[in-house]
Amino acid sequence: MVKPQDSSMAIGIDIGGTNLRAARISGTGEILRRLSEKSAPDPELVLGRIADMVRQLDAREVTAIGVGVPGRVDARRGAVLSGGYVDLASVALAQRLEGMAGKPVVIDNDCNMALIAEMARGAAKGHDNIVMFTIGTGIGGAVVQQRRIVRGKATAGQLGHIGVDVNGEPCICGRRGCVETTSSGTALGRHIARAGLGPDVSVDQLFARDAGGDAVARGVLDAWARPLRAAIDTAVAMFAPDLVLLGGGLGQAAHRALARAPALAAWYQCPVEPAQLGDDAGVIGAGLQAMAAQAPASQVSPPVSPQVSPQVSPVSLPSARPRPDRGRRAVLVNGIPASGKSTVSRGIAERMGWPLMALDTIKNPFLEVLGGGDREFNRTLGRASYQAIWSVVAEAPAGSIFVVDAWFGFQPRQVLEDHLRRAGVEETFEIWCHAPGEVLAERYRARLDQRLPGHPGAAYIPELIELAKRAEPLRRGPLFEVDTTRAVDFEAIVGWLRGVMQG
Ligand SMILES: [Zn+2]
Repeated sequence: MVKPQDSSMAIGIDIGGTNLRAARISGTGEILRRLSEKSAPDPELVLGRIADMVRQLDAREVTAIGVGVPGRVDARRGAVLSGGYVDLASVALAQRLEGMAGKPVVIDNDCNMALIAEMARGAAKGHDNIVMFTIGTGIGGAVVQQRRIVRGKATAGQLGHIGVDVNGEPCICGRRGCVETTSSGTALGRHIARAGLGPDVSVDQLFARDAGGDAVARGVLDAWARPLRAAIDTAVAMFAPDLVLLGGGLGQAAHRALARAPALAAWYQCPVEPAQLGDDAGVIGAGLQAMAAQAPASQVSPPVSPQVSPQVSPVSLPSARPRPDRGRRAVLVNGIPASGKSTVSRGIAERMGWPLMALDTIKNPFLEVLGGGDREFNRTLGRASYQAIWSVVAEAPAGSIFVVDAWFGFQPRQVLEDHLRRAGVEETFEIWCHAPGEVLAERYRARLDQRLPGHPGAAYIPELIELAKRAEPLRRGPLFEVDTTRAVDFEAIVGWLRGVMQG
């Protein structure tokens, strides 16, 4: 019997240090079409290549896009907290991709995606409690309990950072002696070099030499496998899984090497198996998870258990693409001159992929072309620029979201209300940027020589200090205050916006 959701598809993407893989995935996790590109350390380049592959794979039946990202990912918030070789923490990956593709995007740690795939179609089928290590350039981890990904606060399951030697090699996480430093592919290369073997010795050659009684090869395999056994034992003690899976490019080899370092104590007995889906696991899991996030829990297709979906589905992000079913929305970044609102508004626009309208962006070209006038002329231009902003918003597709950077107190409140009504803005969200008057004066003074003629000069400073004392937010809709004397916490701002803009 064909269920309606069986026709739906997703695009799964797996971002690796060497390759970027993408595939169109059926509702049951079959790969329908696949593409691959070289990876790169530059996140913008990676984003561009992904967007390109998405365009090639897209189809009417594709309902969502899933992306597996190496590193620490907060899947619920759709944020990359820190990456590895490709550090995507600096780009608003989910929002940008969603904006480019016009379809919902779900992101998660790449090992979580791989484990979802192994549960649906691979070695973990039929198991409820699984621990997975992915062994490649580094070591990734994922934990499933009662068929749900264990997330903790956000990033649980970083099994590559189980400590196996407190005096060991420095690790990228800031500690020493994590299992990633002893038992990853990179670490294997180090063990080989230290043993005086050539850099081109493969892991298969090590096994062959070992079988022939070569003590050096045996020593290398032991140095690689024994700490991994210790890490697996620790994971078994912590999670009591039915099964430990070894995935990633070196999963099979690690499984073979572990046979030489068995779990000895009774407490640590647990089956350890190699993963089955190889390089396909990442794209399959990403596709399945994207579909699970779209489907209501009761409609999740069979491979991913319905129990999985409440945990794997991240909260729906406020969409970066226009939603014709609703009115326009505006994030009002408010504050008096020199309050730091342009930094804040640019940061929000960049992270969310929303267009930014700043009063000065519109006003300054006119000042340049027409030449600076007096204060009154400057104010007139300000009013016209304000009106221009809302005229642009009014022409945008229904459902569009804009970031508007202005000192909204420079005009009577009714003027704003009229503009909003005419522009079809249904909801506003205010970010109030503030700092003490003396700080504003200092900032204003420092920028005097960059200001165009027509902007008020040094004479404005006492007025600015007075204004700082009485200026207030609009308090129109939800309000978030930003003290710009401190480092701006964009994670907090963006997290707040996502919360209040839900639905
Ligand atoms: Zn570490």
